[in-house]
Amino acid sequence: MDTIHITLPDGAVREVDKGTTPAQIAQQISPRLAREALVARSNGDLVDLSKPLDSSTKLSILTAKDPDAVQVFRHSAAHLLAAAVLELFPHVKLGIGPPIENGFFYEFLREQPFTQEDLQKIEAKMHELASKDIPNERKLIPKPEAIELYRKQNQEFKCELVEEKAIEPMVSFYTTGKFIDFCRGPHIPSTGRIKAFKLMNVSGAYWKGKEGNPQLQRIYGACFVDQKDLDDYLHRLEEAKRRDHRKLGKELELFTVSDQVGSGLPLWLPKGATIRRLLEEYILEKEREAGYLHVYTPDLAKVDLYIRSGHWEHYHEDMFPPMDLETEELVLRPMNCPHHILVYESKKHSYRELPVRIAELGTMYRYERSGVLSGLSRVRCMTLNDAHIFCTPDQIKSEFAGVMRLVEEAYRDLGITQYTYRLSLRDKGPSDKYVANDEMWNLAERVLREAMDSLGLPYTEAPGEAAFYGPKLDIQLADVMGHQETYSTIQIDFHLPNQFDLGYVGADGHDHQPVIIHRGVISTMERMVSYLIELYAGAFPVWLAPVQAIVLPLSEKTAEYAHKVTQQLRQAGFRAELDDRNEKLQAKIRDAQLLKIPYMLVIGAKEAEAGTVAVRHRAKGDLGPRPLDQFIADLRAEVASKSTA
Ligand SMILES: [Zn+2]
Ligand SMILES: [Zn+2]
Repeated sequence: MDTIHITLPDGAVREVDKGTTPAQIAQQISPRLAREALVARSNGDLVDLSKPLDSSTKLSILTAKDPDAVQVFRHSAAHLLAAAVLELFPHVKLGIGPPIENGFFYEFLREQPFTQEDLQKIEAKMHELASKDIPNERKLIPKPEAIELYRKQNQEFKCELVEEKAIEPMVSFYTTGKFIDFCRGPHIPSTGRIKAFKLMNVSGAYWKGKEGNPQLQRIYGACFVDQKDLDDYLHRLEEAKRRDHRKLGKELELFTVSDQVGSGLPLWLPKGATIRRLLEEYILEKEREAGYLHVYTPDLAKVDLYIRSGHWEHYHEDMFPPMDLETEELVLRPMNCPHHILVYESKKHSYRELPVRIAELGTMYRYERSGVLSGLSRVRCMTLNDAHIFCTPDQIKSEFAGVMRLVEEAYRDLGITQYTYRLSLRDKGPSDKYVANDEMWNLAERVLREAMDSLGLPYTEAPGEAAFYGPKLDIQLADVMGHQETYSTIQIDFHLPNQFDLGYVGADGHDHQPVIIHRGVISTMERMVSYLIELYAGAFPVWLAPVQAIVLPLSEKTAEYAHKVTQQLRQAGFRAELDDRNEKLQAKIRDAQLLKIPYMLVIGAKEAEAGTVAVRHRAKGDLGPRPLDQFIADLRAEVASKSTA
């Protein structure tokens, strides 16, 4: 018999008979690996564990540790879903059923919508089929026979898929008991291991995603190899729901979105506006300390300005359309850079003045598509903590380090501890997304890498995420579900100084071109507040809480003293409120807890007499009586420390 050579990931080579399967090789390596194996990778391609190997190959046996293997597992779960649905509803027509992030879906055409009870029945049927440990078997069928098979079963979408997608004369199918599916595979060997799944919801989807096509119902499932991972995922989902800034924004009266104003244009309510103003004051002060100069510039400008900057060519799809006014054509600005460049240009600069750091809480407008708009996190009008540093090439590294320091300090003060660095580069290959100047791109990329390396910070790379004028360093924050978004960014730009012919007089008396560093430290106010709402689940640290203390008189008799306490707190600079409603103390405490107010100050006759307050903390509960002066001093210290405890 012929033998072949199998090279394993550790470099070991095994000589085996031709036709040996990956499952047999796994068994030879260890019974445990054989038990845990889901699928194999042979010369880079995923293959069934039962596939006979007919030539020498590099082989890895994949378990749940491999993300690709987990996707194969989820795909097998999608087949199991379709098999269960067909048993319960034999007349449905099948669409497609791929694995997705955290699970899978399958599409069905059925006149009645699937209900919650249906999903429960289907889930039970899936468990029943899984427990029978039915093998997933690959079959090759000639294309005409395959079409005929589906025609007999009235599966017209599947007929369409076979006609379009099957190129070879033999078409690959997978069977799971009675269920048969046109599928390239691979699959896990059998259904027995599919236990950790949950059908989540049903949503409508046009066949092939094309409007006008029949509408199918997609049943979505969450699915993991291990129950613990599923439990963890479902827990995180609950947590994300509990922390959702749109839900909390409403409950805590932070912002609202009105149909009469328009999509993606939130209104900041007094409490949300307070948080935003505190953030603004905080960052302006940090920047002032770091030598930034703050300016105000208008939210709009002539289209010509953006033609010159290149925004019009590379970014106009994300801009609002221009407005014709008498002789001028104006447009809402999508970025603040051109305005700040004109601020720099308003006078002649010598090298001695550099770096010049121009900063502004700049309001910008971007045409975000309606489908992606969400609460405060994706909006059409946003105010960015923006700045442009005009410096000499020699100053890039120290300015870059200065910005990074600012970011880290701001994150520390805001209680943000989980973040990663991403170097965002352009896609290689021709694209009109980016200005064409290879030399400039390479230089900017090199400078960014050197700056990061000299700080010793680790980063990942993301091709296709650069700004149109240059690469950037993005600082990524993840939400509860692990989805990452860019919050802070630093960009080194050689393009705009050139477009605007910027200069400074050097030590040699000649004209030189400055470099621009674009940077945003705490992102847009909208996005950062949405992040903080979710980070703290609405329970803001005292220095950011819209109401820091609420005074709760026990009865009318202590109303006067309660009023005085409130006034004194306000005069001391705190955000205090008085709840003098004619309600029971318990009700007042409950409402204050719901609003997540850090301190409740209960005022009874004893307190009024002694000049004290009975302090209650939203998380720590009853802290006992304290002289008012003492409470004020403690609160002042807590605010100053920006404690997040
Ligand atoms: Zn499939
Ligand atoms: Zn900029």
